[in-house]
Amino acid sequence: MSNRDKQPQAPAPQASGKAESANEALQHIVDGFKHFRHDVFPQQEELFKKLATAQHPRAMFITCADSRIVPELITQSSPGDLFVTRNVGNVVPPYGPMNGGVSTAIEYAVMALGVQHIIICGHSDCGAMRAVLNPHTLEKMPTVKAWLRHAEVAKTVVEGNCSCSGEHETMHVLTEENVIAQLTHLRTHPSVASKLASGQLFIHGWVYDIETSEIRAYDAAQDRFLPLDGDHTIPTATPPRARY
Ligand code: ZN
Repeated sequence: MSNRDKQPQAPAPQASGKAESANEALQHIVDGFKHFRHDVFPQQEELFKKLATAQHPRAMFITCADSRIVPELITQSSPGDLFVTRNVGNVVPPYGPMNGGVSTAIEYAVMALGVQHIIICGHSDCGAMRAVLNPHTLEKMPTVKAWLRHAEVAKTVVEGNCSCSGEHETMHVLTEENVIAQLTHLRTHPSVASKLASGQLFIHGWVYDIETSEIRAYDAAQDRFLPLDGDHTIPTATPPRARY
C-alpha cells in the first residue's frame, strides 16, 4: 500500500472562512479523532505497533507553526517518518548560552535519533515575515517581537541589497533570506557542525507555496533557490564536501 493510499479521509476541513463557535470547533476536532480511532487506525495497526516502542525518522523538519503547512501531507510521509519542530517563522536560534526548545530538538534529533537530514521550510504568505517587515504591528506582542529578532538579519540583508518592487516581492525575497539565515544559525549548533564536517548530516532550505504547492529549495552550489522537483539533482544547502 502506498503512502498516498494511507492518507486518512478526515472530515471536511473548515476552509470556508465562516466563523465557528468554540463548541463547534472543539466538536470538529473530537469528531476527527473518533474517525481516526475507529476507521483509520485499524487499517494501519501494524505500523502503529511497530512505532509503539521506537522511532527512526527519515528527517528533522523545522517549519512555521502556520496551520496551512502540513509537513506530512506535502511530503506524503507516514507517522514515524518526520521529526517535526514548529514555531513562528520557522526560526532556528543560533547556539548560545540560553538554548530553548528548538536547540534541544536539534541536538536530540542529531545525537539521539541520528537523523541524516534537517529541512528548514518557510512558506508563502507567512505572518511572521509580514510582522518582520512591519514591526509596529507587534507592539502588543512583546514575546513574538523578541523571538523574531532571530529573523532580523534577513530583513537587513533584503533592505540593504534588494531593489524589490512592492510588498509582494519583498515578502518573497525576505522569506527566502530568512530560510538562508536560519540555515546559517543551524550550522552554529555543535552537533550539526560536527556531523556536517564528517559528511554524516545534510541540511536543506525550502520555501513552500501554499497556493500552488510548489517548493523551491536553496542550492548552496549555485547560491539560489531552484524548484525541488526540477530537472536537476536535488538542491541542497549542505557544504559541497566533508572535511573529515
Ligand atoms: Zn509562517
